[in-house]
Order: sequence, then structure tokens, then C-alpha cells
Amino acid sequence: MSAFHREKVLSVRHWTDTLFSFTATRNSGFRFLNGQFAMIGLEIDGRPLLRAYSMASANHEESLEFFSIKVADGPLTSRLQRIKEGDTILVGRKATGTLITDNLISGKRLLLLSTGTGLAPFASLIKDPEVYERFETIVLVHGCRQVSELAYGEQLVARLREDELFGELLQDKLIYYPTVTREPFRNRGRITDLIASNQLFDDIGLAPLDIDSDRIMMCGSPAMLEELRDMLGARGFAEGNHSEPGHFVIEKAFVER
Ligand SMILES: Cc1cc2nc3c(=O)[nH]c(=O)nc-3n(C[C@H](O)[C@H](O)[C@H](O)COP(=O)(O)OP(=O)(O)OC[C@H]3O[C@@H](n4cnc5c(N)ncnc54)[C@H](O)[C@@H]3O)c2cc1C
Repeated sequence: MSAFHREKVLSVRHWTDTLFSFTATRNSGFRFLNGQFAMIGLEIDGRPLLRAYSMASANHEESLEFFSIKVADGPLTSRLQRIKEGDTILVGRKATGTLITDNLISGKRLLLLSTGTGLAPFASLIKDPEVYERFETIVLVHGCRQVSELAYGEQLVARLREDELFGELLQDKLIYYPTVTREPFRNRGRITDLIASNQLFDDIGLAPLDIDSDRIMMCGSPAMLEELRDMLGARGFAEGNHSEPGHFVIEKAFVER
């Protein structure tokens, strides 16, 4: 049995010259938990070229969705960015990852902290009704350099707000906080600074970080994750994993090569 499924691309949307998203068919045997990732890619000269990708779709959805970077000289994404409807992609059979609610001890407020394509696992999680059952408030933070890079997340949240099932849940529970570092925007600054200064909590009108009620998932650049891990560690927050749930969990949005 092959290690991956062959899926058909259903749609592709380019958001900026460095970001695109696409949907694909989903084999009925492909199971995953919201927040997980799988190896996906293309067959190049008869051989699979695969990279880790978070599912941006939720596990109750019929098709798969991915939110991708375009790296100009990247072995995979220099090619993947040219896919069209009807093309074939490879999707690994096994999903894995730490950004799952079972790796967190119970709490009241869930902070989802992301930069760039690190939004992808949270796109899946904010479409999970169980997340709204487990937490009273969900704060989705997405940091980018430019305003245009927020578009995928903005549209995702806007659509969910209009959705018959999710509209009400989001209204009561989801706070979406996009922030930009290199252009004027209503929210400005790096996520680490916004948390350390309490600016984030002042802006959304909620209490500052509190170990008793806050649980955190983060996905972004390795540098941002390191900084946040240190900041949370210094405040007594423990990192969770599959063997022991904690106050926060981390997944790299990419690996520096
Ligand atoms: C757990 C995990 C989940 C991931 N999920 C996603 C996802 O949902 N969407 C996605 O686009 N990528 C994701 N990635 C990154 C992905 O695996 C590839 O690195 C990316 O698709 C580029 O592949 P490439 O072969 O073109 O270039 P690579 O040789 O893989 O990367 C070249 C360089 O590009 C930069 N880079 C790679 N990916 C990114 C990125 N996403 N954002 C900013 N810079 C990057 C890094 O500096 C890297 O060294 C994930 C990585 C990990 C480890």
C-alpha cells in the first residue's frame, strides 16, 4: 500500500505573490484531528516530493484545504504554486502534530497565536465545534508583515461569521485579532511585544494573561516560538505534549534550512 493518497485539486486561490491556498479531494480513509499536519506534495520525475502541511480544513469537511507559502527557489513550492484545478497532489496517509486540544489541560480562554502560514492549523481548529464547547473564549491572533497577507484569515473569519452553524458560536466566543508589523494598520506590532505589554488584552478589552484560565497554541516562525516559549516558561506555564497535557503547545510553521 502506498504511503500517500492521490488527490485532485479542486480550486486554487492566490492571495499575494507569496501566499496561496488550494482545496483538494479527500480520501474517505484519511482521518485527522483538527490542528494536525500531514506530508503533502507532488510527484516529480516519478518520485514523491513531500513537505509537512497543516490541514486548514476541519475534519468534518468533505474536501481538504491548505494555505501555502510560495518560496521562489523552494523545491516544492516553486512547483506547487503553479497547480491548477484537476492536477494531482499527494497526501500522506498519516496525520500528526501537537496542536490538538487533548494536549492542553482544561481552561477558559484559548489563545491561538500565529504568524504567516502558521494560521493554517487554527483555520481548522476554529471550525471545530468541540473547541467552542471546551473554551469560553477563543482569541485568534494572526501576525503578518503586510496587510495584504492577512486576507486569507480575514475572509475565513468573515465566512464563518455568516455560517448558519458557526455564526452564533463566533459571535459569542471568537475574537479575531490580526496584527501587522511593517505597515500602518489598526493593530500594529509583534505578537510577543503585544502580549508582554498587555496591549493585546487592552485592545480586546479582556483580562491579561492568567495561568489559571489561559491555554495557548502557537504556530509561527521558529524565532517567534522560541521567544514565546521563554516568556511563558518564565511565568510558570508548562508546555504540553502527547504524554502530558500542559498550558501551551507549539508547532513550527516551517523549519529553517
Ligand atoms: C509541522 C509543519 C507544518 C507546516 N505547515 C505548513 C503549511 O500549512 N503551509 C505552508 O506553506 N508551509 C508549511 N510548512 C512548511 C513546509 O513544510 C515547507 O517548508 C514549505 O512548503 C516550503 O517548501 P519548499 O520545498 O518550497 O521549500 P523548503 O526547502 O521546505 O523551505 C525553504 C525555506 O523557505 C522558508 N519557508 C518554508 N516554509 C515557509 C513558510 N510556511 N513560511 C515562511 N517561510 C517558509 C524557510 O526559511 C525555509 O528554510 C510546515 C512545516 C512544518 C514543519
